[in-house]
Amino acid sequence: MEQVLAATTVATGTQVLSPGAVTVENGRILAVSDVVPDGAPVRDGYLVPGFVDIHTHGGGGASVVGADQESVATFVRAHRRHGTTTIGASLVSAHPEALLRDVSALAELVEDGLIAGTHLEGPWIAPQMKGAHDPTTLRPPSPDEVDAVLAAARGTVHMVTLAPELEHGMDAVRRIAAAGALPAIGHTDADWETTRAAIDAGGSVATHLFNQMRPIHHRRPGPIPALMADPRMHVELIADGIHLHPAVIAMVRHAVPVDRIVLVTDAMAAAGQADGEYMLGDLAVTVSDGVARLVEGGALAGSTLTMDKAFRLVVQHGGFSVADAVLASAVTPARLMARDDIGAIAVGKSADLVALDPDLRLHRVWHQGEIVTG
Ligand SMILES: [Zn+2]
Repeated sequence: MEQVLAATTVATGTQVLSPGAVTVENGRILAVSDVVPDGAPVRDGYLVPGFVDIHTHGGGGASVVGADQESVATFVRAHRRHGTTTIGASLVSAHPEALLRDVSALAELVEDGLIAGTHLEGPWIAPQMKGAHDPTTLRPPSPDEVDAVLAAARGTVHMVTLAPELEHGMDAVRRIAAAGALPAIGHTDADWETTRAAIDAGGSVATHLFNQMRPIHHRRPGPIPALMADPRMHVELIADGIHLHPAVIAMVRHAVPVDRIVLVTDAMAAAGQADGEYMLGDLAVTVSDGVARLVEGGALAGSTLTMDKAFRLVVQHGGFSVADAVLASAVTPARLMARDDIGAIAVGKSADLVALDPDLRLHRVWHQGEIVTG
């Protein structure tokens, strides 16, 4: 049955309609117009594409690590309630057997359509930039292991975060790119020159820019200026107001073309949940006032962010327009995942939609035309 959704502002990903109307049928978008059909109620607020998150570890009390089908389903539902209609599942650094087991179990969940892809964050990362990763699991990317993991994934890994300065690092970047996944530079102590070489080798995403990478020094620039400047790179931002000060988010918005910025949650199990005790991989985490830290050492251990909050923060405090935020939360991550059926409000795409109130608070979510919440 045909259904018309109209709002005072519809930001499609390519244009902003005020008002706008979206016609949905059988889970697909049938029409998009700035003429609202007679009798269709126009809701005060925004209609934007469903969010796409390429980097997230958990939510709703459940974690991706272990690749348990029920836990992953809980994680998907938790983020869907906050507007993320397409999600990549992120693993953390693990020992070789556990990594292979999880990658191959998640491959089935990607093939079933529950998740859109698997992101490997580590284990090939720099010990001095380990953040909340278990240091006993970190190692250089041996060509044999990289090939074995990619083979176990059967094409379902969409992104691999690694430190290119490690032994075999550049070779790993090339192997990952050749397998059709995005080599992501992160948890790295690389200098500027090494970072440039990694981009030449195929690096295309910066994993949570600024967090767990060598900081900028005006004579030793390190990775950050290289990652921001290169037109081949996309920079992830964890826009929770904790991992990055809003002033830094606004600086990135001014310095990097907005179609190269990607919002990610990097969320752990506590996203959408109360404060308390959680796990990130095998490490214990305490969440207090929504901030997740390792019990041991106190490093930030992922976020409790959901994409609706990130969207609101970058618009209200980060210098993004609503159209900019649509690019960073849907259009660009969908393009990075090579998905042309999602990521924008356009004829023929999946009816994945988010309605926001005038103050940008989440009102309602549709996934394939069905109401998820609201
Ligand atoms: Zn992460």
